[in-house]
Amino acid sequence: MRCEDCPRFDEDTGVCRDRKLNPESFGAAVEVIQIFGPRSICILNDFREQMLDIWEGKKLPGPAPRMKGRRRA
Ligand code: SF4
Repeated sequence: MRCEDCPRFDEDTGVCRDRKLNPESFGAAVEVIQIFGPRSICILNDFREQMLDIWEGKKLPGPAPRMKGRRRA
């Protein structure tokens, strides 16, 4: 959803009344979530669910690879 079409958009200030961010591209959503965290993304954003899945590690392929040459104490 475009912010301009949303009832939570404040036309006077030009920002969301809930102080949420609504990036328009996947790349922008990645940057927003890296800088401001997952809670900053609007629930109406097209990329939010995909971003949360990546953020929570649900779509990572298997366990993290082990580092060679390191032993546990
Ligand atoms: S960020 Fe979300 S809730 Fe806020 S104005 Fe935009 S679409 Fe509406």
